Amino acid sequence: MSHETVYSIASGKGGVGKTTTTVNLGTALAQAGKRVAIVDVDLGMANLAGFVSLSPDSTTLHDVLAGNASVEDATYRLAENIVAVPSGIGLDEYAETSPEGLREVVSELRSTYDYVLLDVGAGISHETVLPLGLADAVVLVSTPEPAAIQDSRKTIELTARAGGTVAGLVLTRTHPGSDISHPDLADRLDLPLLETIPEDSAARESVYAGTPLVAYEPNGPAATAYRHLAAELAGIELAGTADDTDADDNDNTGDNDNTDTATAEDAAGSETEDGNSPESTDETSATDDVSSAITEAESDH
Ligand code: ADP
Ligand code: MG
Repeated sequence: MSHETVYSIASGKGGVGKTTTTVNLGTALAQAGKRVAIVDVDLGMANLAGFVSLSPDSTTLHDVLAGNASVEDATYRLAENIVAVPSGIGLDEYAETSPEGLREVVSELRSTYDYVLLDVGAGISHETVLPLGLADAVVLVSTPEPAAIQDSRKTIELTARAGGTVAGLVLTRTHPGSDISHPDLADRLDLPLLETIPEDSAARESVYAGTPLVAYEPNGPAATAYRHLAAELAGIELAGTADDTDADDNDNTGDNDNTDTATAEDAAGSETEDGNSPESTDETSATDDVSSAITEAESDH
């Protein structure tokens, strides 16, 4: 679909499925042959840490932002084609970090990986707003609940003020029998509906298992939807997205066209790489925009 490779996964309200979306979108892209880095930008919460075996003295994004470690030191392999940069766990370290350093972290990861997904904290603090402007596009995550949709408006507004773009809406934890029209919700926010992710008990189970849903229960409704989302964002066709796991397992039915698709996309992607340049031309004013966006947002309250 596009040359966008750095996505912020954001929401207005917390607990709507951002981390689930980051991990599963990232893993689905990795399964399709893309090299992916997922980054825990929710500095106060350390969400992704559950997917990485960290000891208290493991290097994290905190150490990188504090100037004490390289990005590579804080990068952990999750599975084939996918790494995570966890943010760490100690709230006391939080005050020492410089969110502005995130710009450098992102630009380094951008040059190393095909896709970079930033798992952004909810709310309006500086480390939440900065990534909205740093990413090529924001994937807005919300449940269909009115309160979550309402809070999504704030994220849309903050993204605009931070100089970013919202790619579209991902509705999570949807119920098939519900009388809420999902396209209508997206229309009300004036956003394309990228995907709906059904309520799926395997989502929670997969967290306890420490395994992304798309690997834990690849045939389930949520995993299937996450693969569709990956295909849509990457502009690729995934072999057998609906009801077969062959794309993941490489078993007897042979999914060689999966690899071919990825290669074709890589070639197409390299023709449009100059698409990354607009954001990087005016970095100072982008930072100012972010600061004023936060100030304005706070004064709105
Ligand atoms: P956030 O990062 O926005 O705070 P999480 O991704 O941590 O949200 O999800 C919040 C909770 O909702 C978690 O317990 C998670 O397992 C659960 N959850 C997320 N997506 C789904 C889904 N599609 N079906 C059922 N539960 C889900
Ligand atoms: Mg989270």
